[in-house]
Amino acid sequence: VNFVHDARQSVLAAAKEMLRRGLVEGTAGNISARQPDGTIVITPASVDYRDMEVDDLVVVDGSGETVAAMDGRSPSSERMLHVACYRAFDDVGSVIHSHPVYATMFAVARLDIPACIDEFAMYVGGDVRCTGYAQSGSPSVGDQAVKALQGRAAALIANHGLVAVGSDPAAALRITALVERTAQITWGARALGPLQPLPEHVRDAFAGHYRSLRGNTT
Ligand SMILES: [Zn+2]
Repeated sequence: VNFVHDARQSVLAAAKEMLRRGLVEGTAGNISARQPDGTIVITPASVDYRDMEVDDLVVVDGSGETVAAMDGRSPSSERMLHVACYRAFDDVGSVIHSHPVYATMFAVARLDIPACIDEFAMYVGGDVRCTGYAQSGSPSVGDQAVKALQGRAAALIANHGLVAVGSDPAAALRITALVERTAQITWGARALGPLQPLPEHVRDAFAGHYRSLRGNTT
C-alpha cells in the first residue's frame, strides 16, 4: 500500500497551489493523502483555502469516520469518494477532487476527454472517462469513480467535476492541471474542426508506459 509520510504538509501545500492555479473556487473541491497507519488526512468542509492551516485538516479512517479534528472542523462532505479510491487502488497515496472549468464542461456534457495529445496517455493512462450520474456525497459517486478510474489517473464525475489520483498530493495536482489543460485544448481544437486521433500504436505505447509506472508504485 502506498502512503505519504508528510501527509498534512503536502495536502495543505497542494490545496493552496490548487487555488492559486484556479482549479477550484473558495471552499470547493478537496484533497486527501493516505498516512502510514492507513488513516486519511483530508481538507475540511467549508474552510476557505486562503485561510486553511495544517490544524484545520481532518483525519478519517478507512470507512470515512472522523478520527481526529479540531473543534468546529468536519471532513469534506465528499470524503466517501476519497475513501473509495484508496480502497480500490493500493498504489494511490493521494486523491484530489476539483471543479476546473474546462474539465467540468466535459463532465456536464458527459463526454470523455480524448487522449489526443502526444504523451497524455503516458501520464493519465488513456481517455479520461466520464462516470454515470450519482448525487454528490452519496456512496455511489465513489463506486462510479472507481469504475471510471480503472487504468487511469483521472476521471470526470458526471455533472460535477474531476477526480485525480497519484502517489502523493503534488503528483495528483499535476494530473489535475494536465487534464484541465487538455480539456481546454480539446474544446478549442473541436471548434477549429474534427479532432485528428493519434496513431493507434502510439496511443498503445503511451498507455503501456503508464500501466508499467502504476505497476511499479506499490
Ligand atoms: Zn465537488
